[in-house]
Amino acid sequence: MIIGVIREQSPGETRVAATPATVVQLAKLGYEVIVESGAGEASSFSDQAYVEAGATIGDALAGDIVLSVNTPTNPQLDGLRENATLIGILNARTEEATVANLTARPITALSMDAVPRISRAQSMDVLSSMANIAGYRAVVESAHVFGRFFTGQVTAAGKVPPATVLVAGAGVAGLAAIGAAGSLGAIVKATDPRPEVADQVKSLGGEYLSVESADVEVSATGYAKEMSDDYNARAEALYAQTVPNTDIIITTALIPGRAAPVLITKAMVASMKAGSVIVDMAAGSGGNVEGSVAGQVVTTDNGVTIIGYTDLAGRLPAQASQLYGTNLVNLLKLMTPEKDGQLVLDFEDVIQRSITVVRNGESTWPAPPVQVSAAPAAAPAAEAVVAKEEKKPLTTGQRLGGVLVGALALLALVAASPAVLQGQLIIFALSIVIGYYVITGVHHALHTPLMSVTNAISGIIVVGALLQIGHDGNLITILAALAILLASINIFGGFAVTRRMLAMFSRS
Ligand code: NAD
Repeated sequence: MIIGVIREQSPGETRVAATPATVVQLAKLGYEVIVESGAGEASSFSDQAYVEAGATIGDALAGDIVLSVNTPTNPQLDGLRENATLIGILNARTEEATVANLTARPITALSMDAVPRISRAQSMDVLSSMANIAGYRAVVESAHVFGRFFTGQVTAAGKVPPATVLVAGAGVAGLAAIGAAGSLGAIVKATDPRPEVADQVKSLGGEYLSVESADVEVSATGYAKEMSDDYNARAEALYAQTVPNTDIIITTALIPGRAAPVLITKAMVASMKAGSVIVDMAAGSGGNVEGSVAGQVVTTDNGVTIIGYTDLAGRLPAQASQLYGTNLVNLLKLMTPEKDGQLVLDFEDVIQRSITVVRNGESTWPAPPVQVSAAPAAAPAAEAVVAKEEKKPLTTGQRLGGVLVGALALLALVAASPAVLQGQLIIFALSIVIGYYVITGVHHALHTPLMSVTNAISGIIVVGALLQIGHDGNLITILAALAILLASINIFGGFAVTRRMLAMFSRS
């Protein structure tokens, strides 16, 4: 089949649905790729780069599958061939007119923004990949306007305090903003109705501000729900207390299908110092900040700049196109099971079902709801709790009894062994005891690095086995060879694991 990559027509759109790198991946799935001339221009991908990646430049609308970022314009939709499959960010949840328009056509339409929030679908989740970029860019935009350092400094000319940043809503965008602001040296605080994000905020070096209310949770779809009056009143008090001492605020709170909650009131903005900056990432959905204007930068009477850009991800177009293009490749991998360039739409698959708006000209929207991984886990069943309680820890008497039996068994073994073995057996037993206490004293998270440095022990085993291997007796030779084999696996495996772990922390 042929995949067409169209040039976006929406004003200000800088992204493109495929990059030269993703064209190569599409070709590996057996597809032929046609890119519309100039499609990648705003993302700095030339026609020539696409050609070098294996695509041809031509009429992308003639493809069997058409990839887009936004919903194509009507003239573009008219150009689609019959039975074509359109895949893009169609915003089917919010754009009823778009759904009606697409349903009136003999095509199949898949809305990438409707990918369910299940672990298996994470690699296709365009909302997450764009939110991640937007969160980072929000910090960059604020830093551009903010007239001071983010980091604190002690210089010969005086001491500079670090900037304080408040992130409201610690989802994907919020966490990206916390990471970016923290890496610039700011003191970052964040809040979110979902208490489980506290650890994520802390792991990025931020401080989690908890709203002490019983009403903290997400809906079954994994998205936040509207909060209760009690929660909102307590959150307002927290913001009113925190905002006057904050230099930069980044708000990311969204409730799908509803207007974004107002978190920062006019009075709070008025309490900020001149030169402070607010980035309202929810400006396009009604705004989290009173006074923000979608797509614009506003400066208040007290000198606070409120940035309401709605195209934050598009402000890093090459990166945004690459991540979106990869989301599309991952979806096409799922839908091309034979890697033969033939698209198969499987309605038994929950991801494919969830994103299908129109199938062969018939409306399939909305898809049945999916229970998602972002929703809190259900309370454990009563039986499970009982079963756990039954497994009581050993009493001190039982433990001492166990140790006594073990010691007696060892003594019996030593007594029955030939004199040459006795000393070695005692050393062996003591090594087991010491090894047990050393390993159980190490935190679980460190077990893998611990195991990867057991090379020293394996080295000793190899030396011992080499000394034994030449001795008489087939059994000893076989055992020694086996010891060398197992210890070598441990040594080389240890190096491999260590390499992989170091690669996880490497920046390149
Ligand atoms: P989102 O864009 O829907 O909302 C942004 C954030 O705003 C959320 O953290 C939300 O809790 C917060 N928020 C809502 N109302 C608020 C209020 N009144 N005050 C303050 N904050 C408020 O969410 P998101 O960032 O896309 O993701 C939320 C969670 O879902 C994350 O933990 C993410 O990891 C998870 N997720 C999972 C998958 C998956 O498993 N495939 C995909 C996407 C997201």
